Amino acid sequence: MIMKFNVLTLFPDMLRSVLGESIIGRAEEKGIIELNILNIRDFSKDKHKKTDDAPFSGGGGMLMTPQPIYDAYMSIADGRKEKPHTIYMSPKGKVFNQEKAKELSKMDEIVLLCGHYEGVDQRVLDMIVDEEISIGDFVLTGGEIPAMAVIDAVSRMLPGVLANEKSYGDESHFDGLLEYPQYTHPQEFMGRKIPEILISGHHKNIEKWKREQSLIITKQNRPDMLERADLSEEDRRFLAKFDK
Ligand code: SAM
Repeated sequence: MIMKFNVLTLFPDMLRSVLGESIIGRAEEKGIIELNILNIRDFSKDKHKKTDDAPFSGGGGMLMTPQPIYDAYMSIADGRKEKPHTIYMSPKGKVFNQEKAKELSKMDEIVLLCGHYEGVDQRVLDMIVDEEISIGDFVLTGGEIPAMAVIDAVSRMLPGVLANEKSYGDESHFDGLLEYPQYTHPQEFMGRKIPEILISGHHKNIEKWKREQSLIITKQNRPDMLERADLSEEDRRFLAKFDK
């Protein structure tokens, strides 16, 4: 089944150039995802194709006007029985995470609205948006990079996108822990050897080492994640050693 991403933006080339590359570009070529990138400006009824105006609340900057966004959205949604799930990329939204990526990857189609300048007139958000998603507690100049982050994270969870689907099962955030360190060839680089255990051929011990490394790095960098992670008695005993 193909997953369709509709993106409403004032800067379509930003998305086309980035998403046309590498794994996501190939996912589109293989027909696993479809990208429908609409330029909001094409829908402006203003004679100069204007898409922004000064906010009534004053202050610097411009706001995106409702009409072009509404018409761009309706070019997708009009005549449908069910409205397509529509997300506004916004620093005011709930913070994106792997769980959300998984949830969105189950949908057939989503619409992503990218704001720019000072943001978007609230009325059109109230009319078309189902949820607001932020990619972190900072403010960017536009929603294009956040939309690309969402498309990338969601697409790589779809069957057939990654060469080895096990790849994401082992990764940071998948099971509530961060990933263990990884090594490739050569076995020695500038005097630094890879951990002996990895060439021992003892699979059980390697799995134990990987788990312990994940626990250590999560405790160091994201102790908040450990509070929510599904930990065994053995994990807890291992972690307790570092509390002494
Ligand atoms: N005035 C807005 C506020 O204070 O919430 C910020 C507007 S920001 C400069 C312009 C656009 O960038 C927003 O409309 C949104 O689409 C996008 N954006 C900025 N930071 C973002 C973030 N952390 N996550 C998702 N979208 C973001």
